[in-house]
Amino acid sequence: MSSSRSPLNVYITVDTETWCGGWNNIDEKFPQAFSNYIYGRTSKGDYGLPFQLKLLNEHGLKAVFFVEPLFSMRFGKSYLDEVVGLILDANQSVELHLHPEWTDESNKVIFPHINNKREHLKYFTFEEQRELISIGINLLKNSGCKNLTAFRAGSFGANDDTLRAVQANGLTIDSSYNYCIPECEIAAFSDIHQPESFAEVTEVPMTTFIDGLGKRRHTQLTACSFAELKSSMNHAYAHHWQSYVLLSHSFELMKLATCQPDNIVIKRFEKFCAYLSQHQEKFQTRFFNEMKEISNPSTNQPIEVSLLPTVKRYYEQLMRRVI
Ligand SMILES: [Zn+2]
Repeated sequence: MSSSRSPLNVYITVDTETWCGGWNNIDEKFPQAFSNYIYGRTSKGDYGLPFQLKLLNEHGLKAVFFVEPLFSMRFGKSYLDEVVGLILDANQSVELHLHPEWTDESNKVIFPHINNKREHLKYFTFEEQRELISIGINLLKNSGCKNLTAFRAGSFGANDDTLRAVQANGLTIDSSYNYCIPECEIAAFSDIHQPESFAEVTEVPMTTFIDGLGKRRHTQLTACSFAELKSSMNHAYAHHWQSYVLLSHSFELMKLATCQPDNIVIKRFEKFCAYLSQHQEKFQTRFFNEMKEISNPSTNQPIEVSLLPTVKRYYEQLMRRVI
């Protein structure tokens, strides 16, 4: 007798942030950087946040936008209001992302004793991390966010103190654990694949898989072929996984160096969205703020993807460089 089963919860996460390509003359460079990193401005149209939001909504999909707010302490609240407004107006979810590289660029001094560049949250003490997360929450709230639930450290540069600082700020979900990124130094878990508890916080790890050549990869839009994404999601469903996390960025559909659309990645995202909306019996996109109780992890084995989807990625990545 067949029994109905729940679909796999798919979290499309989009880290949403602005960079000025270095730290010199950032006030001059910022307006152009904001256009590129947030709006995905190219000579052939915009492929950033508004494009992503429209595509998601056309397919009836949910996504979590991890928004980096510290940059606004240098360039002004109106920019953060604009980013948050675009996402909330599209009925998608905003959660907190922090790149502490902005800490020493703030117009208002955050830590008087720190005047050097500290790239990752893990380089700050627990108290400092708690303070930075609190500042980030307040910035997002002042720009119109309610009910913040989740956190992701910039570049996954987190440690166990990050999880404690997340909890101390009343957030209940962290998504900073990434097996494939050496900068991630969360030691509380060892190669987890499914949500697990850390005191009051639920860690929802980045999904990773073993590719057709035996290498471990995380499921990032620019780093995998559509065939790898499809295959890994189906593997997760077949093995009764509870959650699958995709990583993307607000600027991931364009080639930043040349300000051109990245047509292969755009097509990949369109295929991914269409596939999810056509297979809702198996895959349901979710917000982190609707996550229910976590079940016992059904597996401690990573996903394996066969050779062909990986070969397709090598071909696509080559084509991205030549066209
Ligand atoms: Zn980031």
